[in-house]
Amino acid sequence: KIYYDSDADLGVLYNKKIVFLGFGNQGAAQAQNLRDSGIPNEQILIANRIDSYAEDAKAKGFIVEHDFEEAAKVADVLFLLVPDQVQPRLFNERVAPHLKSTVAIIVASGYNVFYKLLNFVPQQDVLMVAPRMIGSSVRSLFVNKKGFPCFVSVEQDGTGTGLSVALAIARVIGGTIGGAIASSAREETAMDLFAEQALWPNIITLFREAFSVLKEAGCSDEALCYEMWMSKEPAEIFERAADDGFIRQLKLHSTVSQYGQLRGALSLDGVAVRAHFKDILYNQVLNGKFCKEFSKIEDDLEKEGLDNPLNELYRRMEESELGQAEARVRARLAN
Ligand code: NDP
Repeated sequence: KIYYDSDADLGVLYNKKIVFLGFGNQGAAQAQNLRDSGIPNEQILIANRIDSYAEDAKAKGFIVEHDFEEAAKVADVLFLLVPDQVQPRLFNERVAPHLKSTVAIIVASGYNVFYKLLNFVPQQDVLMVAPRMIGSSVRSLFVNKKGFPCFVSVEQDGTGTGLSVALAIARVIGGTIGGAIASSAREETAMDLFAEQALWPNIITLFREAFSVLKEAGCSDEALCYEMWMSKEPAEIFERAADDGFIRQLKLHSTVSQYGQLRGALSLDGVAVRAHFKDILYNQVLNGKFCKEFSKIEDDLEKEGLDNPLNELYRRMEESELGQAEARVRARLAN
């Protein structure tokens, strides 16, 4: 099911106090879109610690509250737009105890809802309105009156009006211009984490191994970096795939290329890859194993240097032949 502007009745937001918890990538974009859609500024409250994000919100004319407890008390609609790993502690300890029992809580990602990391009460609406787009594009596409892909779902319908509120919210942030897709926290989380843990790691590995094989065959670092990604050819191919079609874009390549790509792709049976993908989907993502592992390292992500597990992973990746070669090429280009 796809919902358009005409499916959304903005009347359900009349006189409602709309609180944004977070004014970062999504918060800043969505709050501005919402106001430009006609929601009066007095109805909007930005809750943010005293810092540059709060200053930015004030500079854009928003009313800002630094005390999360006070902001929670007045919310009829609460956008939860702080980073996913921050949400459980902040929401459960400082926000949830002060919320009205009938508040509508809006999440832009299914992660914490699907893994049941947030404490809701049954009367509350829990709604997912998830733009599939970075915040700056959520804003710029809206300003240019263009749509962006957006997933919508009612995860908990405490008031019985959850869908109307979700659609109204999707509309005021610009999510129904191009059509908002009915989804669920489970679907959104499965696809998101699958892409991050199965699809992209394989693509990174393909590039890393292709680089090593071609380098061993005598290709230079410079030629390889440009041939493989710095020319932006892969970016262009994906753009064409989005515009013209995943398979149809092949027709823009030379005949030699088309024949080689189709013959090569059809000769790989994909059985091992499919088994590996299923393993990630069922044994890491859907069963919550990855979420448990990530919860254990969350606090370490604030640390400096190699005590931060993310920095350690970067160090290891940068040691690869591709990583080292690219660093050399970029250093040479900078001089
Ligand atoms: P950001 O990293 O941009 O969020 C920054 C905001 O969170 C700032 O207001 C920041 O305020 C606040 N914040 C960060 N840490 C804390 C903390 N410990 N306590 C209180 N406030 C804090 O988040 P995003 O906009 O990227 O993500 C928000 C949601 O949107 C997530 O659920 C994400 O999955 C989803 N989403 C994000 C997309 C993206 O493009 N980034 C795309 C689609 C969905 P302060 O200045 O106080 O740190």
